[in-house]
Amino acid sequence: MVGRLRRSLLAWYDAEHRDFPWRSTRDPYAVLVSEVMLQQTQAARVVERFPRFLARFPSVEALASASTAEVLAAWSGLGYNRRALALQRAAATVTQHGWPRDVAGLARLAGVGPYTARAVASLAFDVPVGVVDTNVRRWLLRRIGGPDRPATLQATADALAAPGQGGDVAAWTHATMEFGASICRARSPRCDICPVASGCPSRGVAARIAVPRQAALRGSSRAYRGAVLRVLTATDGRALPATLLRRELSAQSQRIGPRLGEAEWRAILGGLEHDGLIHQREGIVRLGTATIEA
Ligand code: SF4
Repeated sequence: MVGRLRRSLLAWYDAEHRDFPWRSTRDPYAVLVSEVMLQQTQAARVVERFPRFLARFPSVEALASASTAEVLAAWSGLGYNRRALALQRAAATVTQHGWPRDVAGLARLAGVGPYTARAVASLAFDVPVGVVDTNVRRWLLRRIGGPDRPATLQATADALAAPGQGGDVAAWTHATMEFGASICRARSPRCDICPVASGCPSRGVAARIAVPRQAALRGSSRAYRGAVLRVLTATDGRALPATLLRRELSAQSQRIGPRLGEAEWRAILGGLEHDGLIHQREGIVRLGTATIEA
């Protein structure tokens, strides 16, 4: 069963997959950048930003030696900006010690959780491990069945990935994600053209698989934090007096949320500074940290 399912999905992927720029690379740095970007940003936006980021920082060395302000400016618009700083710390580690080539080693890099470690291990280093994102979870539950538990789903995905060898390993990881995104879709699965429809217990009757809803952005601290970084990125010298910065945000209140009280505003700046995304000195707010953290 595993062999037939793998062959069907791999043949389908080979013929039908969408050509995203991260699908054609095996370079661990490019793979890591794409996976970190895709963690919380839609593919349509990553398509545009991924090549620009790599053009600006073409290697782990280039990323590791940049200022945090430069990295944050290049990341601006992708959201969840702490990812950019973690990626830079991971680049610094790799520059110093080389690439870990297995899941456990990759998972020790800054900002790399078990999912991303598995993705990079399979896509860049041919380690045949399963990768369970939202799309993969959905089709595993529908096509294979079993309880909706992370450990069970991971074990199923690992069993399906295990026979992979050579280039098949990366193709299989891409295929599993692409299949869930474009065929076994959340709302209207394409059972009519599904390459593994034969024997699928959910064929024609697939239930919607719930995913946790994201909280509204407007009025959230994420909205204010993102706006501070966007304004600083767009300003000459990537710095502004705190009073002017606050005024800029007030002008965008329709999009971001109502003007914050003094204590809330300080908390936003304090949180950003704590996370190394800005630093403040003598009433001036600057993008990034004053020095690169090792
Ligand atoms: S037949 Fe339908 S529900 Fe089953 S795996 Fe294919 S697309 Fe998903």
